[in-house]
Amino acid sequence: METVGIRGDVMGQALQKVYFDNYSPVGDIIVMAICMVIVVLVATSYVEKTRNFNLFINILVYIVIAAVANVGYHEWSVYITNGNYFWVYVIRIIYHIAIFTILLTYTAYILELMHIELYRKVPIMIVASVFYVIVVLWDILSSISKKGFKINPDGTYNSDIYVFWIGYVGFVTMCIILMIVFRDKLYRQILRGFYGTIIIAFFILYLQGKHDQNSYTLVTFLFPVIGMFYLIHSNPYDMELGAISSRALEDMILYNFDKGIDMFMISLFLPDMDYDSAVLPESVQKGIRSISGNYFNSAVLFQISKGHVVLIAKRSANKDIESRIHKMLEAFNAEYEKLRLDYKIVICESLIDLKIKNDCAALINSVHRHMDINSVHRIIQTDVDGFMRYEYILSELTDIVRGGNLRDPRVLAYCQPVYNISTGKYDTAEALMRLRLSEIGMVFPDQFIPLAEENGYIHSLTKIILQRTCDEIRYLVKENYDVKRISVNVSVLEMRDESFITDIEKIIEESEIPKDKIAIEITESQNDDDFMIMKDMVDRLKDMGIKIYLDDFGTGYSNMERIMELPFDIIKFDRSLVLASSTDNRSEKMVGSLAEMFSDLNYSVLYEGVETEDDEKRCTELSASYLQGYKYSKPVPIMDLKNFFSKLEQEENHA
Ligand code: C2E
Ligand code: CA
Ligand code: CA
Repeated sequence: METVGIRGDVMGQALQKVYFDNYSPVGDIIVMAICMVIVVLVATSYVEKTRNFNLFINILVYIVIAAVANVGYHEWSVYITNGNYFWVYVIRIIYHIAIFTILLTYTAYILELMHIELYRKVPIMIVASVFYVIVVLWDILSSISKKGFKINPDGTYNSDIYVFWIGYVGFVTMCIILMIVFRDKLYRQILRGFYGTIIIAFFILYLQGKHDQNSYTLVTFLFPVIGMFYLIHSNPYDMELGAISSRALEDMILYNFDKGIDMFMISLFLPDMDYDSAVLPESVQKGIRSISGNYFNSAVLFQISKGHVVLIAKRSANKDIESRIHKMLEAFNAEYEKLRLDYKIVICESLIDLKIKNDCAALINSVHRHMDINSVHRIIQTDVDGFMRYEYILSELTDIVRGGNLRDPRVLAYCQPVYNISTGKYDTAEALMRLRLSEIGMVFPDQFIPLAEENGYIHSLTKIILQRTCDEIRYLVKENYDVKRISVNVSVLEMRDESFITDIEKIIEESEIPKDKIAIEITESQNDDDFMIMKDMVDRLKDMGIKIYLDDFGTGYSNMERIMELPFDIIKFDRSLVLASSTDNRSEKMVGSLAEMFSDLNYSVLYEGVETEDDEKRCTELSASYLQGYKYSKPVPIMDLKNFFSKLEQEENHA
């Protein structure tokens, strides 16, 4: 309590009047403390050092200088008893210069944020700088001349606050004008944020004035700083586009979903722009900014990836949503006519009706797969169901692959017996994979093979199906069944992996079956690199005694030269050739001569998809060695395969 006494004495010496303007350092001390907190937060987290970041740091430094100066000049004057107020004048000028510098930097920051072109930015900055110099000089002169600001010998002062306020209001006005003139350059939400801070700042200044206070002027400079800190630090806002990151998108959807707030979503995907180092042309950015800003109320734009943005808005804020979407698409088409950039647009009119609450970006990506380029797709329930199914299958596949169990019960081996024309028996078969998953039951290859290939899971699945096939062959051989071999499908993709051959060899060896009981089916590849890899792998498989099938001959573009280069044993004619051969004489001739040519070159020909007696008769005449199809049997669980095979007992008796 002593200090109060001392101050009381000092104030007793006719200095109360310095406190005439009701200043208390509390406002400035709070400002310093908050700046300190921000500095600590910036220092302890990763921040991208952009131009805006440098401006932000400058502002922070000048705010601290201003706060210290303001406290200094008010407090100091209290302790001066000899009437020499020189340093008080100096510190007061420093305070004002710091404030003007902050305002000038704000102007530069706004120009930077809005990506104003250089030829516009330079004159604007010149005007701002000239204004800055004028107010600074004016302020200094008004103190030197003692016309504007004068401390009387008794400690009271005559203050001319006009220079300061002219500078303050002048800069704020300049910023507001910039934000109005270039409003389409700044994302609407951000713009509103800035207007909000200005309104709050004026409100505080008004309250302060009303209560004859003077302590909180600098506090009003802090609001934009906090906004800038948010923008710079969490970096959720793409400076070029004015969009927020996809993480925020999922958060927002989840939040609104839980609150029961229905929203709609519009996604724009530009495949040509979707790579990491892509820079969207200024015209495209402008188009996206204006379209996303002009047609919907309170819409938020999110950036999923470089060429993918998603707009989300509340349905309740956009009553006539259909006509809004219609107008937006019209505007988009007009832009498209100019820019001619490929796109995919996905629209979802109600997130709640379709129960979309997370993985929105993944859902859109799955819709992209089956939609045409330069088209608009509206998400319906089947898209969402398909996506959920797809996600579920993928998660199960991941689990199967991670588990690494070669006998995982979720992977089923089915087998389709193949009819051997020369022996009139079933002595070979093809292994075909299925999944049986607890929530959706049986899953067929068209629904999971592409997925497994895309995610690098296919080799793990091949190993499982090979293991099952080896297990069954072991059993069949032990039980004396006449099984020549069972073929397993292999994807070209997995051959790229060095461990491909050793994995296959290991499984067959550990199963203790002759290697020639296993065959491998592969399809042709268009890709040159893949061809070379395939050739190498096929040679090594052949060396092990494994027979090689060329699968799906007749689909795609067959390159005869390449087929001849690979040591295939059996060419599988696709069902499309079986069908073609039944249409007219010419086609039948063509299929027939292809088959004949292969036979002459010592390949065996297998027809796939033989469904009818007619198919069987025709194919048999067209140089077939093997026939496979529903005519004989659909694929059956691998343990039922024995029902098709005959036993070798007779031969054993002979022996
Ligand atoms: P694919 O290798 O051409 O297998 C033949 C497909 O034709 C099988 O379909 C089979 O059920 C079907 N099929 C058999 N007979 C007939 C018939 O008379 N008429 C018609 N219309 N179709 C018949 P599935 O089992 O659905 O397999 C589809 C594709 O999935 C396979 O075509 C193969 O490319 C792939 N696949 C299946 N299992 C595996 C596997 O274990 N590994 C790999 N990499 N791919 C597999
Ligand atoms: Ca096959
Ligand atoms: Ca096939």
